[in-house]
Amino acid sequence: MGVSDVRTETDIRMLICGSEQSIIEGLKRIDANAKGMIFVVDNEERFLGAVTDGDIRRSIIAGGPLDASIGDLLRGKESISMPVNTPVVELLSLVNQSIKIIPLLDDNGRVTDYFEFQAKFHAAIASTHLDGNELNYVLRCLSTNWISSQGSFVTQFENDFAQFLGMKHAASAMNGTAALHLALLALGIGPGDEVIVPDLTFAATINAVLYTGATPVIVDVQEASWCVDPDAIKNNISSKTRAIIPVHLYGQPCDMPQIMDIADRHGLYVVEDCAQAHGAEISGRRVGSFGHINCFSFFANKIITTGEGGVCVTDNEEWVERMRILRDHGMNKDRRYWHDVVGYNYRMTNLQAAIGVAQLEKIDVILRKRDQIRGWYENNLADCGEFEMQNIIPGTRSVTWLFSTLFHGKRVDRETFIARLKKSGVDARPFFFALSAMPVYRAHARDICHVSHGLSARGVNLPTLMGLDEEAYVRIARTVKECIQ
Ligand SMILES: *Cc1c(COP(=O)(O)O)cnc(C)c1O
Repeated sequence: MGVSDVRTETDIRMLICGSEQSIIEGLKRIDANAKGMIFVVDNEERFLGAVTDGDIRRSIIAGGPLDASIGDLLRGKESISMPVNTPVVELLSLVNQSIKIIPLLDDNGRVTDYFEFQAKFHAAIASTHLDGNELNYVLRCLSTNWISSQGSFVTQFENDFAQFLGMKHAASAMNGTAALHLALLALGIGPGDEVIVPDLTFAATINAVLYTGATPVIVDVQEASWCVDPDAIKNNISSKTRAIIPVHLYGQPCDMPQIMDIADRHGLYVVEDCAQAHGAEISGRRVGSFGHINCFSFFANKIITTGEGGVCVTDNEEWVERMRILRDHGMNKDRRYWHDVVGYNYRMTNLQAAIGVAQLEKIDVILRKRDQIRGWYENNLADCGEFEMQNIIPGTRSVTWLFSTLFHGKRVDRETFIARLKKSGVDARPFFFALSAMPVYRAHARDICHVSHGLSARGVNLPTLMGLDEEAYVRIARTVKECIQ
């Protein structure tokens, strides 16, 4: 999606009108080109100025003669033009309510091209970017009939992903929520146990706890990192606490060294929810390599995708075996159709894994592009004073999932801002609701989670579409600025 299209000679010809032509000729030309304007040139085809249909209308209303020449309308009028090689970013900065089309001139002052700001623009919050080997590998599944949950891509994806994190084992699952559920089951968590979860997260984190019959305990997050507060964890540990699920929210790593220390001292399991932070690091070590079993999601809007999909990683062979049995109906590995436990059908298909293998091949490129997008937003939004950028916590490498920022709302409130953006073609999302704000989960919070509620009320996520270039993000940032006026 670009903002300027390749132009043909005819297109430009349709916009050009000699200064000696009559007003009627000019109007005919405007009628034919449907741009509402013409570029007026001298007899050497050099640009003299632009005339709009409004200029002609005003001249006629003021009693100007119909047989006047188009050139006469340029008197006292200033027109904008730019050299043909002007960067689009610069052209965009010239666009305003009345200037939407800018003639681009060669060294001799002739119109060789023009820039047009397209009013129609749509930026979804996220989209898949399947430009690598995805199609190739999926076709391989189709042509070999391995489209279900057996096939070499499943094993390859598990091996590749474990290696990406420097972990020994990975068990794939049909989605990230199933992965969390499997992890908790493998650790033996169930009724009577308590599991600590942050108040600010996607609901799948707490739902997975509830599926096991265990009791979630919702705790507050930190103002600086938006992630679970280690002190709040400590304050909520009871004799029933069995596990903690830290969520690396919006690409930001949790304070894993401190959380692992708390867990070790109290004999608790840690299940990292890395659904929004593939590739994030703490002191050079990737998230998903700290806890006992750690889970990722590959839903279509996540950093890398398999359409729907998830994975659990661990260094423990017994746990990974248990998860593989549980995801496969609880079937005995050596005796087919013999069931030792009540299991689930939580398997990932070979088709999903094929996409996953291709996505993982280029995760470095994806992460780099996402950081670049974040930089473009920060550069273009810093001066408007409405956004508090996501902190970089010392010693960590956060990743960019969405462009997540806190909105001050000095001139318009957040909901108005988001609604205006949507109207202008930019999808924005508010932060998640605090879990404790929702009646279905409220009873699981012992403390009031002030920080989480505050962040939830202020946070805005902007699109991070991989296929857009800098000019598109400059444009989105412009739209953002227009929507806060
Ligand atoms: C997306 C997400 C999940 C669930 O993943 P699905 O693959 O959609 O089931 C879990 N936790 C968090 C924090 C998420 O963002």
